[in-house]
Amino acid sequence: MSKIRILDEQLANQIAAGEVVERPSSVVKELVENAVDAGSTTIDIVIEDGGLALVRVTDNGSGIEGDDIETAFYRHATSKLSSSKDLFRIASLGFRGEALPSIAAVARVECVSSPDNSGLGRKLVIEGGTITTNEETNAPQGTDISVRELFYNTPARLKYMKTIQTEIGHIADYVNRLALAHPGIAFTLKHNGSLLLRTLGSGDRLQAFAAIYGTATAKAMLPIEGEHPDYELRGYISKPEQTRSNRNGITIVVNGRYIKSFIINQAIMQAYHTLLPINRFPLVVLELGMHPSLLDVNVHPSKMEVRFSKEAELREFIEDAVKRALGKQRHIPGPAQPT
Ligand code: ADP
Ligand code: MG
Repeated sequence: MSKIRILDEQLANQIAAGEVVERPSSVVKELVENAVDAGSTTIDIVIEDGGLALVRVTDNGSGIEGDDIETAFYRHATSKLSSSKDLFRIASLGFRGEALPSIAAVARVECVSSPDNSGLGRKLVIEGGTITTNEETNAPQGTDISVRELFYNTPARLKYMKTIQTEIGHIADYVNRLALAHPGIAFTLKHNGSLLLRTLGSGDRLQAFAAIYGTATAKAMLPIEGEHPDYELRGYISKPEQTRSNRNGITIVVNGRYIKSFIINQAIMQAYHTLLPINRFPLVVLELGMHPSLLDVNVHPSKMEVRFSKEAELREFIEDAVKRALGKQRHIPGPAQPT
């Protein structure tokens, strides 16, 4: 008798959720990334009790067609990839088609979405992976997803959650980074009724930075820029006097995605080198643009880790740009200006 069988969809989703939905901030991350991919210009995030009671993300993006709203919650269902060629030039934040089914497997989800401004849309309710409602409803253009009682059906994971303060700390950290990555989007983040972040969406990165770190800190930052046949770099770095006690002040954004990169961190630290006291770290926000084919984002389900195809070259480019911004390497002086 054969013993091997294919897992049913619900069980497969619960297993995937173990990887994709580690904690409430993972839900925030996945929902906000979807909102960014939908071309939204405003994203409002409402959290209750560290995200275990509620994570709600409302956007004004392209919305989901009524016929697609159930499909969006199927495993490996995505509108962002259509061929394996696309996998090697990913321009969107999502592409795995795993987030919505994984979240819906371990929470109670309500999704209201409309693709146009007819005033009508669809509402889907899905609890622990089971669809309980799919009906027409009034809705503005965009998507409004509420995730309630996260991990209600996975008690082991629920028990592992830290305090509300820890969980909201992770959430705020992630939203801050994404607001820095996308200064053209107006973000708000509220926790238990209090406003933790509001950015204006003006497109001015320093303004978004000021909303997070304060105006005085923002004013003291140095602009950084770099051009290279393969890369384009922009951002702000702190003067060596303005240091911090840990690396958390370093935000690296590659093609709109907030990532963690050991090699870029190293290049930055190498550029500051002796300017920084021991065990002190700069505040940095770098936005790096490159052709998507130079980057592999399909390394881990959380998509926070990437592989660069030309590491050594990239490291040198970043280090040089940071040194230049710090005034360590002067430009070759041009001809003297007539007086
Ligand atoms: P992925 O982002 O990897 O495609 P998800 O499970 O996160 O997978 O989402 C599945 C699909 O649902 C997306 O490809 C997209 O078409 C649709 N979708 C999800 N969230 C939104 C949103 N906020 N606005 C518009 N479409 C969305
Ligand atoms: Mg997604």
